[in-house]
Amino acid sequence: PRPHPTFRVRPLTCTETRRGDQQVVHSLGDGAVHVSAARHDATFGFSAVFDAGASQEAVFEGSGMRQLVELAMDGFSCTVFAFGQTGSGKTYTLMGPLAQSEAQPASPALLGLMQRSFTCLLEQSQSRGSDLALSASYLEIYNEQVRDLLSPGPPCALPLRWSKTRGFYVENQLSVEFESLEAIVSLLLQGSQRRRTSAHALNRHSSRSHALLTVHIRSRAHHPPTLVLQASACPSKQGTLCFVDLAGSERVKETGSSGELSVEANSINRSLLALGHCISLLAKPRGKRTHIPYRDSKLTRLLARSLGGSGITLMVACISPSSRCLSETLSTLHYASCARRVTTRP
Ligand code: ADP
Ligand code: MG
Repeated sequence: PRPHPTFRVRPLTCTETRRGDQQVVHSLGDGAVHVSAARHDATFGFSAVFDAGASQEAVFEGSGMRQLVELAMDGFSCTVFAFGQTGSGKTYTLMGPLAQSEAQPASPALLGLMQRSFTCLLEQSQSRGSDLALSASYLEIYNEQVRDLLSPGPPCALPLRWSKTRGFYVENQLSVEFESLEAIVSLLLQGSQRRRTSAHALNRHSSRSHALLTVHIRSRAHHPPTLVLQASACPSKQGTLCFVDLAGSERVKETGSSGELSVEANSINRSLLALGHCISLLAKPRGKRTHIPYRDSKLTRLLARSLGGSGITLMVACISPSSRCLSETLSTLHYASCARRVTTRP
């Protein structure tokens, strides 16, 4: 079994219910999503669809996230990315409500894909008895600048480079080793807090940046000292598991963004557009493919390997069921249907 494109419709929020929004998105079971509103009536098919009643655990088990963790442990480059408009439930799906309220720990039932994956990873690594070296890095892309969320001090931009052997990579990014669930969860919190506080200081919302947390999994092959010289005969594997919380798409007109805010919104939209463009080109049959413009944005450069090449990607499309979000919902659905056709060769 492989991870498969997953679609999640969140419940209507209190605000939406109070102002009388209609629920226009329904799951029909068997992977079908139905959108019905005044002038729209469409059904889309997905591998896995989760509606408002679905628990965090159901999403973890039903999306193939567990398999993705195992593939990363086997040495593959694995990526899960959540996309959809602002407020559609991306952060909730990845991290649960924990990242949004201050310090009080969320109920374990509400933990998101990330914490569940960390638990799975650490359990697996213990039960396999293999000697794994685990480390994590956490970056955000804000206004087309890559920033380290784990390094102390004010956020500064890191250069994004390319090399033949490594592909695109971020120079000088911090990678912190961890051995326990507490340690990695605290790195996640620390980084998310930085993402948020840097945002708050300037009165911005957290979802104005794309955030990428990557777990590096390296197997430390055990060699008796005399065998060290033959280490190459028993190659060590290195897999990665990357979680991408994309900033939401936004219509500049509607939010009345101006000045600095519209620069932000434009760079978010530009990078999402570049991502959509790459995905639609990748979705073409291999023979008809033209050059894929990964270089169009920092986001597509960082995701190049997982999107096109040797990676395995799990997409989670998040949407709000509200009638007010209809046009964004339709565009998320089209985007997701397109991305579904992308094939890679891990
Ligand atoms: P995004 O990251 O896409 O901007 P959030 O994850 O912050 O959106 O979700 C927006 C709001 O909806 C939050 O208050 C969140 O707690 C709530 N929410 C999202 N998904 C769910 C869900 N599946 N169940 C309950 N509440 C949800
Ligand atoms: Mg968010």
